[in-house]
Amino acid sequence: MFRHKTCRNIKKRLQTMHDNNNIKFMQFALEEAQKAYRIGEVPVGAVIAKNDQVIAAAYNLREQSNDPTAHAEILALRQAAQKLGGWRLSGAKLYVSIEPCPMCAGAMVLARISALIYGADDPKWGAAGSIFNIVQNNKLNHRIEVISGVLAGSSRKLIKNFFAEKRG
Ligand SMILES: [Zn+2]
Repeated sequence: MFRHKTCRNIKKRLQTMHDNNNIKFMQFALEEAQKAYRIGEVPVGAVIAKNDQVIAAAYNLREQSNDPTAHAEILALRQAAQKLGGWRLSGAKLYVSIEPCPMCAGAMVLARISALIYGADDPKWGAAGSIFNIVQNNKLNHRIEVISGVLAGSSRKLIKNFFAEKRG
């Protein structure tokens, strides 16, 4: 009985640690998104962590680099692969402020990312469940664990402000 309870407590503690990390890394992703905001890019930020260490951080650079593929997640995946010296990012977790688009979701599957943690849902482009679910598709040979809604309010607010300012 006692042992069982201890086990449960440890499990609970581990879960809390997990949640704290998710929030911590999402805050970091949101800071990246702020950098995009400041230079007039749609504010999306991404962070990749492995063994609880940040190995890549990037933000959307589509306008600045005249590159339709320069999404935060793609740039972060490239950085992480460079850093680890290989394209296979098994065991790595990707944190992004908004649900990834089909291109980024596809790239995450190709990179064998283990977990995707994102903030706000994207009803227009989301490919982690909103309009497609590329990251958890049985027809593909790799599936990614997904946690959504982490600091979603902050992400939504950032994007809303960005477009309001643009229109104003
Ligand atoms: Zn994308």
